[in-house]
Amino acid sequence: MTNATEAARAALGGETGVGEHLGVHVETEHVATHLFACEKAGYVGWHWSVTVVELPGGEPTVDEVVLVPGDQAIVAPAWVPYRDRIEPGDLSPGDLLPVSDEDPRLVPTYSFGDDPLDPDAKAQIRQVAGDLGLGRVRTLSPQGLDLAAQRWSAGPGGPTAPIAQSAPHRCYTCGFLVRISGPLAGGFGVCANGDANDDGRVVTTDHGCGAHSEVRLAKRHEPKPLPEPVVDDLTLDLLETW
Ligand code: SF4
Repeated sequence: MTNATEAARAALGGETGVGEHLGVHVETEHVATHLFACEKAGYVGWHWSVTVVELPGGEPTVDEVVLVPGDQAIVAPAWVPYRDRIEPGDLSPGDLLPVSDEDPRLVPTYSFGDDPLDPDAKAQIRQVAGDLGLGRVRTLSPQGLDLAAQRWSAGPGGPTAPIAQSAPHRCYTCGFLVRISGPLAGGFGVCANGDANDDGRVVTTDHGCGAHSEVRLAKRHEPKPLPEPVVDDLTLDLLETW
């Protein structure tokens, strides 16, 4: 292996900033990769990696020389696909965000033929739905409904929001709650109180806020009646009265 180490270092002869031999990783019976510290400026924590083949009775030959990041190297964060990086609020006017045909949150509005694996089936559904004027080709799947319900419940319109925690009453007794139809009707509605923080937003029926339609101020919180007005006749001329 000593010959192989020397051959590996010799392969880096043309490079600057080659440091100490850090170790060897055996790839197969006759193939090993030698690591050398890289002392080039800007490559802190990187290693020179030299793969050497050494057959019995033969001279070592170098297969590959590359720079590889070590544990302490500064490297770019793992790449995240654009589609997975988008968050609510990222879309600007004119931006398009297509939903995949395989998105588990959506299912065809009605069954799509004898062979669900038919790649043309989804295109046919769109065509038929358009011809019949059904409007929506897909609707929320049970999974899509569950995800929406979890998101809304955990959000600012849910029962754990700070404003709901200190609210005197719940939305299900509030006159400003607009009921919705569909599978989520039992647990959600839309707040229609223009004075409330949640106006126009989906709220859970066990959400609540201080702008509830039946909120009444306690006696001690009611505004104090104003005293009778007093005319100061020492500094103002009295008006003539009839
Ligand atoms: S005003 Fe408050 S209590 Fe009433 S529906 Fe809106 S959020 Fe719920």
